[in-house]
Amino acid sequence: MSAEIIDGRKVAALLRERVQEDVQEWCTKGNRRPFLQVILVGDDPASIVYTGTKTKACMEVGIETDTMVLQDTISEFELKEIIQSCNANDEIDGILVQMPLPSHLSQHSVIEAIDHRKDVDGFHPMNVGRLSLNQPCFKSCTPAGIMELLKHYSIPVKSQHAVVVGASNIVGSPMAVMLSRENSSGKATTTICHKYTRDLTAHTIHADILIVAAGQPHLIKAEMVKQGVVVIDVGINRVADETNEKGYRLVGDVDYDSVKKKASWITPVPGGVGPMTVAMLMKNTLLAAKKSLYPN
Ligand code: NAD
Repeated sequence: MSAEIIDGRKVAALLRERVQEDVQEWCTKGNRRPFLQVILVGDDPASIVYTGTKTKACMEVGIETDTMVLQDTISEFELKEIIQSCNANDEIDGILVQMPLPSHLSQHSVIEAIDHRKDVDGFHPMNVGRLSLNQPCFKSCTPAGIMELLKHYSIPVKSQHAVVVGASNIVGSPMAVMLSRENSSGKATTTICHKYTRDLTAHTIHADILIVAAGQPHLIKAEMVKQGVVVIDVGINRVADETNEKGYRLVGDVDYDSVKKKASWITPVPGGVGPMTVAMLMKNTLLAAKKSLYPN
């Protein structure tokens, strides 16, 4: 048996198409085009690539965007002043501060400076709290994109045992919340594992749905999963590869070749979860422009 492939590129393209149509309709009604302000601090190469991908997606769906590039020596006070001016600017619908930030800046404090009604990343405590309470909110894009994938492929979640490996604020924790909420997309029984979990296999082996966001190449091997498991691999890891002109290739947290022989569904890396994250950001920016989640 070999797993069916969950094609994140295809589903993300469908989602972007829908957002593009909605943006068009929104503008045709006489509304201003949605605007996403991206703030990039420093010149981390991966962050430059990520912000570039987001800009390109904005252009594709008709969302206006600008990337403000700030020196990595900027003080927290100065950065927060810039964020506050974006908060106060009615022409800006969504604000995204690209993470990670240089180490002298507090990620928590900077995120909290963003008006939660413009927090299209869904990282602000107001949005995280409202997610836990099953209230309308901006949802963290990666786990929200995974929920869309499960929905698209009609993969049942209700009453399934979902195991999430990784407990970060941006992926693992909100993922576990989304899966376990007793709402129309959730209702899974959820286990959350992390690097302090004593016997990882004791948990992963029972998963009906296994979501892995640990940042550890090939952490999950075939012997750690049961036959028929649905595997969602969030990991993006660079491993050295001399045969590749870049000198590296991207791999996930799952040993894809062996696990796919046991799984019923699996996401590839790249081409699985990654494209969904950017598509969900576009959706959140449109929701921000329409003030759908926070009307006032
Ligand atoms: P993080 O470093 O903030 O958190 C990693 C989590 O995994 C922690 O909870 C840690 O305890 C756990 N962990 C680490 N090693 C483990 C082990 N051996 N066993 C069990 N748990 C372990 O990372 P993050 O920001 O959540 O990202 C995780 C991965 O997902 C990274 O590879 C990142 O690049 C990728 N990512 C991908 C997307 C996407 O759009 N596809 C988005 C965000 C993150």
